Amino acid sequence: MELSHRLKSIPPYVFAEIDKKRQAAIARGVDVINLGIGDPDQPTPRHIVEAMHDAVENPVNHHYPPFGGSKEYKQAIVKWCNKRFGIELNADTEVTSLIGSKEGLHHTIMAFIDKGDINIIPDPAYPVYRTSTILAGGEPYFMPLTPENKFIPDLDAIPEAVLKKAKLLMLNYPGNPTAGIADLAFFEKAVAFCKKHNILLVHDLAYSEMTYDGYKAPSILEVKGAKEIAVELHSLSKTYNMTGWRIGFAVGNAEAVAAIAKIKSNVDTDIFKPIQLAAIAAFEGPTDHIDFCNNLYIERRDLAVERLKALGWPVQPIKATFYMWLPTPKGMSSADFSALMLDKAGIVVPPGTAYGPNGEGFFRMSLCLDKARMAEAFDRMAQHSITYDMLQAKV
Ligand SMILES: *Cc1c(COP(=O)(O)O)cnc(C)c1O
Repeated sequence: MELSHRLKSIPPYVFAEIDKKRQAAIARGVDVINLGIGDPDQPTPRHIVEAMHDAVENPVNHHYPPFGGSKEYKQAIVKWCNKRFGIELNADTEVTSLIGSKEGLHHTIMAFIDKGDINIIPDPAYPVYRTSTILAGGEPYFMPLTPENKFIPDLDAIPEAVLKKAKLLMLNYPGNPTAGIADLAFFEKAVAFCKKHNILLVHDLAYSEMTYDGYKAPSILEVKGAKEIAVELHSLSKTYNMTGWRIGFAVGNAEAVAAIAKIKSNVDTDIFKPIQLAAIAAFEGPTDHIDFCNNLYIERRDLAVERLKALGWPVQPIKATFYMWLPTPKGMSSADFSALMLDKAGIVVPPGTAYGPNGEGFFRMSLCLDKARMAEAFDRMAQHSITYDMLQAKV
């Protein structure tokens, strides 16, 4: 048996690898605290589950769904985007369904990247941007995101030779793993930049509703003329606690939307109709669970900030997402710190390098566990003297 060069060119999915280590620790009898999860701990809201129940009972919904999403689903997306961002979309040409935005990101890359093409992506970032680019035969070009640049890349630093070969530029605000946020002024700059260089701008807006302290995340399509060059990927996973349901959508540039839909119609047959109907119930139903969950994340964030500060960490409260992007103890690599956290304290935190070369010197901590369990994690860190200055303290 010989694997394709394509498959051999990418590493195993990082989170699958992290999960193996976690399982091995559990098998050794360790009570593992998983601060590596990017999956809401609360259940899908009741009215969404009920809509699914009702829809699944109706045999009409048991057949192949239409390609690109049902008319009703696409119209509900248009209405939701209009209400939320004040943008106008054509349901027939500027919207397509996705089996989650992970799938959408992969297909967008497959639709635009050929051998030798460049995809300009943030670093650190959601790993799919990089691996799907390599699977497509292309080459990622990394834009460094650092605390110093507030996780906003310097577009003007991208070399002309890279721009000539670039087909895509990807952004993600609010961002995973950095929790970085961008304002409309940066999106305006990015749209103008991509227009000038004729590069499709892909915005991953998976965390649009997970925002705190009065901050509201903009859509890139709020920028005038953005539709000429930009497509935006959305997901119901994080907003509606629906990670397992697999549903999302892409909106924006009609040519890009059609390209994604063309790839999809050749490889999948869309989303089970009852899931689309449940998603419509999500868009049109009450939203109090969003505030409820955001308040939970705020409480956990505040606990984490207080406890990490006590352990000597430099840390700022995040305004969006459920991730905290933290420096490893001074002098320690990402891999060493993640291994130490698991071996000494039974805590899983992904190493920053899982998200790209610029993740070295960082780790990600998520807020998807209840406060008591998080407090236990910080207790264990204190017990084992895992502090920001731990290497200095030793000498
Ligand atoms: C979770 C996540 C996704 C994937 O969401 P799905 O819709 O569940 O596939 C995409 N992008 C980012 C940045 C994420 O964190």
